[in-house]
Amino acid sequence: MPPALEEAGTLVVGASQAGVQLAASLRQLGDTAPITLVGAETHPPYQRPPLSKEFLAGTATQDGLAFRNTSYYADHDIELVCGERVVDVALPAGNRPGLARTSSGRELPFARLALTVGARPRRLDVPGADLDGILYLRDLDDAVALRDRLTDASRVVVVGGGFIGLEAAAAARAQGKDVVVVEAADRLVGRAVAPVVSDFLRQAHERRGSTVLLSTGVVGFRGTDGRVDGVLLADGRALPADLVMVGIGVVPRTELAEQLGLECDGGIVVDAHARTSAPSVVAAGDCTVLPHPLTGEGRVRLESVPSAVAQATLAAATLVGREATTRSVPWFWSNQGDLKLQIAGLSTGFDEHVVRGDPDTESFSVLYYRSGALLAVDAVNAPADYLAVRKALTQEIALPAEAVADAGTPLKTLLTAPTA
Ligand SMILES: Cc1cc2nc3c(=O)[nH]c(=O)nc-3n(C[C@H](O)[C@H](O)[C@H](O)COP(=O)(O)OP(=O)(O)OC[C@H]3O[C@@H](n4cnc5c(N)ncnc54)[C@H](O)[C@@H]3O)c2cc1C
Repeated sequence: MPPALEEAGTLVVGASQAGVQLAASLRQLGDTAPITLVGAETHPPYQRPPLSKEFLAGTATQDGLAFRNTSYYADHDIELVCGERVVDVALPAGNRPGLARTSSGRELPFARLALTVGARPRRLDVPGADLDGILYLRDLDDAVALRDRLTDASRVVVVGGGFIGLEAAAAARAQGKDVVVVEAADRLVGRAVAPVVSDFLRQAHERRGSTVLLSTGVVGFRGTDGRVDGVLLADGRALPADLVMVGIGVVPRTELAEQLGLECDGGIVVDAHARTSAPSVVAAGDCTVLPHPLTGEGRVRLESVPSAVAQATLAAATLVGREATTRSVPWFWSNQGDLKLQIAGLSTGFDEHVVRGDPDTESFSVLYYRSGALLAVDAVNAPADYLAVRKALTQEIALPAEAVADAGTPLKTLLTAPTA
């Protein structure tokens, strides 16, 4: 017998960065209704960023990745259900609670629903793509498989020169592997950074011994006895490989939202309060597209921990009827071996940029502007510049382009007057 609507609590589907934060925020806000946090993975919720960094490098263990200690969920009256994928969901109707059903047939009633289902890796659909030794990196099981395979591999090809591909490439190279990064576009991390940073990353990875092939498509894989031994390129070449890591982006998981008739447009569409097109359903994290967090204009999809945390916090407030509007500056980091890239703000649409410092020293930053207004910074091994720009964006303090070019002047000394 399902509970009455008023006894059913919140169901959070997806037990990762956004889902855990949402459940924790509900409790911090004093919500005492039942919370069920259901996740498809068998592991208790864990952090993903170290998977392509410390975990692959062998300096972090599986146990060290957990978000919370094992007693946290029970201590906060959060029912954590691991290893159950929700396959069907129906919203509350009248006095009848909503109902989610998992692939094992388990039924989870709810009064309020939060979708924090994240994204899946985009698959490379070419001949030979199912050969053994071609791996992706999204979850802990992927990372364990990749780390194990890396031990015996000598020739590693990374398909995709985005953040995760470059982080994995750095970890493999640091272990002495022969590494080739193959990128279809004409520069690395093209969606997130300016050409000057893309060029720097290419040179820096090449200095460390990796080969970077730009404007190079992969058309298939070659194998022997079911195991990959080569990557076939569009220009007719074949790269020898005993391990391939594909990192060509992610696809937001929208299937449950679509089942519920929620608006989706390259992700689950949410407003500035993390509310979907159904007012009783919130969504947060990598599965969403949201209004630009600083300007409110247009829709963006942000695949990052800080964004998932900020949005999940808003979603919890919305669920308890305390809609909050916070101006949160997006930020992101990527550690590629000893290269530490930090980004604050969104540089999309910039019409001017200023490079502070010399990229050849491997410590510099790039500040982006549109119509004279500061948009963002990419800082490579330059944490002080990153922090100063993040503060400027948060507190709406002007940092005029003409004032920042001299790398000898610390940016924090320019942080004085608020923007008019
Ligand atoms: C290798 C790697 C490195 C990264 N490095 C960085 C970094 O350095 N900095 C940074 O800011 N970000 C980084 N990210 C991105 C960051 O981890 C994500 O933005 C963040 O995890 C998003 O959290 P999420 O909860 O929205 O989604 P996810 O972490 O994808 O979690 C969604 C969860 O929902 C579960 N799920 C999906 N559908 C269902 C269903 N129907 N039923 C039940 N459960 C379901 C999934 O199994 C998954 O566990 C990295 C990501 C990866 C993969």
